[in-house]
Amino acid sequence: MLTISRLSKRYANGVKALDSVSLSIGNGLFGLLGPNGAGKSTLMRTLATLQEPDEGEILFDGCNILAEPQRLRRQLGYLPQDFGVYPGVPAVQLLDHLAVLKGLTHRGERAEQVDALLQLTNLYEVRKKDVSTFSGGMKQRFGIAQALLGSPRLLIVDEPTAGLDPEERNRFHNLLSEVGESVVVILSTHIVEDVRDLCSKMAILAGGQVLLEGEPERLVEQL
Ligand code: ADP
Ligand code: ADP
Repeated sequence: MLTISRLSKRYANGVKALDSVSLSIGNGLFGLLGPNGAGKSTLMRTLATLQEPDEGEILFDGCNILAEPQRLRRQLGYLPQDFGVYPGVPAVQLLDHLAVLKGLTHRGERAEQVDALLQLTNLYEVRKKDVSTFSGGMKQRFGIAQALLGSPRLLIVDEPTAGLDPEERNRFHNLLSEVGESVVVILSTHIVEDVRDLCSKMAILAGGQVLLEGEPERLVEQL
């Protein structure tokens, strides 16, 4: 269970990106829907402990993550909106390196986990290819594999389907549904279909505030 209480953030330029945001997020897929500039990325980076809020509290299963970020980081997977990959490195090798950075020191366990994630994301066939040559959809699926290294209990995904064509988006939806069965997933998006098709709970964010919160089948009709 993730509990966000009265989270606020004002940037140095005066923009109030988060204005007393409170949310309770349980198991399954949670959708954070909002237009550009709503504060989604700011909230996602704050949850990923990459940025500090001015005020507020975040509890994950009782652990205060702003006070003890290193405790959460081990349980956390984060797929940022734009992530870079090293060109010239095969997918399987890149995942292996990233697994080492995540602290998976046992070579055999690492290889097992990397293979399982390549299978899960349907990238096993292309594991020896350079990730920088992947299509947008393949790259996003690789991003999920990367974020799931170390078996996190919380997965934060920022605008993952932006720019994907319908078929790739569909594949990505299937992947997230599967992942959402065992991991708490928070998905930020400006695409209504993402939350309608995937999420069991959602909130609408605009101007740094939560406008509505509830079940997609009820809320999406009101949009
Ligand atoms: P979203 O992800 O919903 O598009 P963001 O969290 O990126 O929203 O942005 C919320 C607001 O904060 C926007 O007005 C944006 O321009 C501003 N903002 C985001 N990051 C910064 C930053 N590092 N410095 C100043 N303003 C920022
Ligand atoms: P988006 O609005 O598409 O969600 P992001 O919030 O991911 O974009 O912003 C990309 C990068 O630019 C981030 O590092 C963010 O901190 C920075 N940024 C975004 N908006 C501003 C802004 N108004 N002023 C300064 N930096 C910004």
